Amino acid sequence: MKGVLYSKALIASKYWEELSLENMNTAQWEAICDGCGRCCLHKFVDSESVPEDGEVTSIDSQQGEVFYTNITCYQLNEKTCACKSYEKRKELVPDCVSLNKHNLKDINFMPPSCSYRRMHKGEGLASWHPLLNKGKKTKMHELGITVRNKVISEDKVNLDDFEDYIVTWPLSEID
Ligand code: SF4
Ligand code: SF4
Repeated sequence: MKGVLYSKALIASKYWEELSLENMNTAQWEAICDGCGRCCLHKFVDSESVPEDGEVTSIDSQQGEVFYTNITCYQLNEKTCACKSYEKRKELVPDCVSLNKHNLKDINFMPPSCSYRRMHKGEGLASWHPLLNKGKKTKMHELGITVRNKVISEDKVNLDDFEDYIVTWPLSEID
């Protein structure tokens, strides 16, 4: 994810209350990103897995269950929760998934708290979103919505051991 600028003008306009994702301009679209960094975690899809009743280890996708780990892409700044090389991310990390108006159908691969996913489902922004908090992520860090202090970079682990790093907190939602 990018280091997003939540300008005073955007905050004051409350555009997210009126516009759908499809109708937002670039600045409006980008400011919907809450900067949690959860989309930069390694995850994997198990197309054969069936969750047990009440099990909270995955989210639904059209292709199977999505499991999250606490392993981040090596380009993620673990403190700011922003990408270190956002403009060059596709060059550096070819499988970096960036959401746009044309791939909203893939939105189920995003964590449930992802603000694009929430908007797409008609849930609106959560109370902790920077647009509702003077452009700050302080509340998100306090509530554990961001990945700060909970992750390890992929260059410090053996990715073959990814099953040891499966976590459920990226699936948590707080309104
Ligand atoms: S999960 Fe969604 S809201 Fe959070 S950083 Fe990624 S794109 Fe932005
Ligand atoms: S390159 Fe890595 S850190 Fe940057 S946006 Fe993509 S997944 Fe996130």
